[in-house]
Amino acid sequence: MKGSIKLTETISRKEHLAVIVADIASAQVVLKDKLAFERFSKLANAGEKMVSIQNGAYNTFIILATEKKDASQVLEYYRTQGGDLLKCLNKEKIEAIELTSPCATSAEVLAFAEGMFLANYSFSKYKTAAKENSFKTIYLASKSISKSDIKQLQHLLEAVYLTRDLVNEPVVFLTAEQFSTEMEKYGKAAGFEVEVLDKQKIRSLKMGGLLAINAGSPNPPTFNILTYKPKKHENKQPIILVGKGVVYDTGGLSLKETANSMDIMKCDMAGGAAVLGAMYAIAKNELPFYIVGLIPATENRPDGNAITPGDVITMHSGTTVEILNTDAEGRVILADALSFAKQYKPELVLDFATLTGVAIMAVGKYGSVMLGTASEETKSMLKSAGNQVYERLVELPLWEEYAKEIESDIADLKNLGNGTAGATTAAKFLEHFTDYPWMHVDIAGPAYTKGEDNYRGKNATGMGVRLIYQFVLDYMAAKK
Ligand SMILES: [Zn+2]
Repeated sequence: MKGSIKLTETISRKEHLAVIVADIASAQVVLKDKLAFERFSKLANAGEKMVSIQNGAYNTFIILATEKKDASQVLEYYRTQGGDLLKCLNKEKIEAIELTSPCATSAEVLAFAEGMFLANYSFSKYKTAAKENSFKTIYLASKSISKSDIKQLQHLLEAVYLTRDLVNEPVVFLTAEQFSTEMEKYGKAAGFEVEVLDKQKIRSLKMGGLLAINAGSPNPPTFNILTYKPKKHENKQPIILVGKGVVYDTGGLSLKETANSMDIMKCDMAGGAAVLGAMYAIAKNELPFYIVGLIPATENRPDGNAITPGDVITMHSGTTVEILNTDAEGRVILADALSFAKQYKPELVLDFATLTGVAIMAVGKYGSVMLGTASEETKSMLKSAGNQVYERLVELPLWEEYAKEIESDIADLKNLGNGTAGATTAAKFLEHFTDYPWMHVDIAGPAYTKGEDNYRGKNATGMGVRLIYQFVLDYMAAKK
């Protein structure tokens, strides 16, 4: 992550200053100069939420508190205000700011700082003359926020950054094998084990789904096992996080339209990258939980040996699958991971995947779709975690009738439904390979944005990292 948050006792006024105030009148405490206050009030009364006032060599940015009542929207307000402020600072080539508030809660101030640093992300590896952001440091003056709060937030931000970096990487660099190398690197940095299974090992484990999808690719697949098991862990059986790692999806022989639907298909490993990022944050913050990440990784390409529509394959579980559309590949590799997860006797499995266009049609970039067999309590905790970090979730049904849609004439299952309810039939397919409480999260909508979206930026958003982290914290706290 570029930059840092430093805790200070008092405001020095030797840096630019940002203050969150309760209302227009309260700004008088900060803006002692009468003319400055009048200028501020005029703009604030006209509806501005953030006003910049020149104060000698330094600017004072006054941010008005929100009148919103919903806790989720309040935190999101501060993140987006933080994102807006950050843009001003980079435009003015400002490197540091002091941040304080006489009225905002610790969570609100931290959300503001979070929004600033999420907005400060950039991906410039392939620019020969990159213009780096100027902004580097927040000096946070607060009596209620601890050093440990800041450290935890920084690790979480680092995790979102690394996820965004990997999703933004094109396949010319990020093959399945390189993705594994990155996992090993971040595992070492954060303190979790990474075991990389190569093609030979994948073959010996009979992961027929992963091998079939990889068959048309010149580069081999990998199957990655990330294990975080600290000495003191509160859960005996692990929570397993499964992430789709299709490092590039051409659709295979069921080739996507080349016009523009393939342009961003390097992002089809965003679920795997989110799992890696979340495990990085969990391990860096030394949370006392036993967590396993499983990430099958491959390209999906239409070479001479590529799997053809109509082929029948045998999966890791022994189930036979008729492949009808080779572009419905994510569920096929995820199914092998879900079946592999059974041997852990996990207490809960969550999978994250950019899986279906239907999920995008349903909620757009504003949220993800979830389906699964976990308890109502777990589902509501997932939704609540999503609301807290504003990576919101909406549940779709997994009714038994959908199972009929994936029945094949010649094999146990087919990898495609009958054209309707595509996000559900995909999940119904995955359900077949589970025997434990499980939730599937389809992040196809929010994982990658084509336009600027405040602190989420443009391109990879890191969707899933903050959601998983918050959920794991809430889930483990509820067990106590
Ligand atoms: Zn596909």
